[in-house]
Amino acid sequence: MRIVLLFVSFAASFAFAQRAPGFDPSAIDRSVNACVDFYQYACGNWIASNPIPADQSRWGRFDALHERNQAILRDILEKASAPSATRNAIDQKIGDYYSACMDEAAINARGAAPLKPLLDRIAAVHDRAEITDAMIDLVRRGLSPFFRFGPTPDAKNSSQTIGDLDQGGLGLPDRDYYLKTDDKSVELRRQYVAHIKRMFELIGVPSTEAERRAQAILAIETELAKGSLDRVSRRDPTKLYHILTLHEIETSSPSFGWGKFFPGIGVPKLQRMNVDVPDFLKSVDAVIAKTGVEDLKAYLTWNVLRDTSPVMPPAFEEESFNFFRKTLQGAKEMRPRWKRCVEQTDSQLPDALGRRFVETTLGEEGMRRTQTMVAEIEKAMAADLQSLDWMTPKTKQQAELKLKAVLNKIGTVEKWQTYDTVTIKRDDAFGNFEQSSRYEVQRQLAKIGKPVDKKEWEMSQPTVNAYYEPQQNNINFPAGILQPPFYDNAMDDAVNYGGIGAVIGHELTHAFDDEGRQFDAKGNLRDWWTPADAKAFEERAACLVNEYGNFTIIDNIKINGKLTLGENTADNGGVRLAYMALMDHLGGKEPPPRDGFTAPQRFFLGFAQVWCESRRPEFSRLRAQTDPHSPGNYRVNGVVSNLPEFQKAFGCSTNQPMVGHPACRVW
Ligand SMILES: [Zn+2]
Repeated sequence: MRIVLLFVSFAASFAFAQRAPGFDPSAIDRSVNACVDFYQYACGNWIASNPIPADQSRWGRFDALHERNQAILRDILEKASAPSATRNAIDQKIGDYYSACMDEAAINARGAAPLKPLLDRIAAVHDRAEITDAMIDLVRRGLSPFFRFGPTPDAKNSSQTIGDLDQGGLGLPDRDYYLKTDDKSVELRRQYVAHIKRMFELIGVPSTEAERRAQAILAIETELAKGSLDRVSRRDPTKLYHILTLHEIETSSPSFGWGKFFPGIGVPKLQRMNVDVPDFLKSVDAVIAKTGVEDLKAYLTWNVLRDTSPVMPPAFEEESFNFFRKTLQGAKEMRPRWKRCVEQTDSQLPDALGRRFVETTLGEEGMRRTQTMVAEIEKAMAADLQSLDWMTPKTKQQAELKLKAVLNKIGTVEKWQTYDTVTIKRDDAFGNFEQSSRYEVQRQLAKIGKPVDKKEWEMSQPTVNAYYEPQQNNINFPAGILQPPFYDNAMDDAVNYGGIGAVIGHELTHAFDDEGRQFDAKGNLRDWWTPADAKAFEERAACLVNEYGNFTIIDNIKINGKLTLGENTADNGGVRLAYMALMDHLGGKEPPPRDGFTAPQRFFLGFAQVWCESRRPEFSRLRAQTDPHSPGNYRVNGVVSNLPEFQKAFGCSTNQPMVGHPACRVW
């Protein structure tokens, strides 16, 4: 699955979640000139009065909305967890899942005992061949050591689901963490090894042996990292499409028992599949062939310890927090237990909890106004395509076909999963986690060989995010994002078009960014561009690569212009389309100023204020390497400096910083 997100979400939280308005005049820093630094102008006072909470590594208005959704979910879960004779099956599942997760005393009392069957399973491995058997067991429980395997639409026949074997197996956030030799990277690896060692000590492994295992695990993961493709290369879908036969896979990595593995996990008839990175299979083979069996077992055990820590006693959870959130992302404190349990319920039983959330939050007016906006923005895109002077009629026609074929999903789920086969018990947090993980693995693997279900969602409804799926050619807006500051019933159109309108335009533009443009109307990887048009596109894209590549994130680290190209293209196109749609919607009748701002000004302020945020330095460094999205300040200033409409709205003169030279434009 190749979904393109609006932003990369992460757990957020705050003590009291209040409804934030779509546009907040008090957030503005009037000491700054809008034409000099529009982000600071729109967000300065919000940033000054909203310090990052101790349990966060970033704090923005996105996160504040996430927080508000969390509070709504908590309320739903607390009500559902009260035992009653009339409780229905869905409420029993989410209520008891949450209750068991909240029962820290019971979790603590069981200690490491729930891990025993898994650890015993790995301990029973005697030789290299039996590594495959242990893997089968772990994969069925939702773990993925060494590599990732799951369903995906066939990139060249997008209505059909095939198996997809991809690189994976790393504990650190990116391959570069293993390969870079600067002081900070070396120090992070030292801390990573220390963390793994402490996790082994928690299950009773003596210190010297724990240290030895941790070093062996780093060595294994470094080998896997070397065989992994970098993030920028992975943006090119043609580099990730290789249909191989089972026989070819077995030949490429004979040390792993593929012929036993696939039937073992429940995909018996698999003869061909996509292998994203064929060279990676050689790395897997080298690791399994050359590493001692005890070290391979240590690596499998580490995968268990890492992935089960959320349902283990506080000692495990805290140790995991200390490395993955504190060291890597700069958070100062753990989030309170209820927030972790809300998130876990959302991630493990997404349809059950999401169903209740939609019933609670999604109003009819919001749905209707959003649907209207989607239609208007699609109309704006059609007009935009028509007006392009750099694209020949032949390619334009294909682009129009693709635009017409885009499917919109807005906060609605046609078929909710009911989790009938998942048994959730009020006193077994670990068992519940395992049950729902097993269920999800089975559900995913069962898709292989079947037609693609385009109605299905890739994120839960309470999620504050949106996505475009190039292989299905659809744009998706879960109920979680159809709220302030993105969408506000109490606000004028200008603010809503700047908020959710720009998000809709962003997702739509993904259909035509550096990655999306390689897929056709049906979601097939097929080149529908004339060479001249493709060249013209790339020249325009290069302008954005250069513009964003000159923005500094922290210290001497600049934005990776190629990694963020798709998102920057979508941001720029999205705001332009939303603005065109707003102007069309107003039909030349501009409403009187409100709060002292004209409609065009309110549009841009509504857009900018979505991105108000602060980040901890550790988080900024992590995201510079891994996040295809630019930080909030550049998502705003990078866009407005390319837009004459902005410059006109705020009366900027040509030598001011928010007037770009050159002004980049792709769409
Ligand atoms: Zn995006």
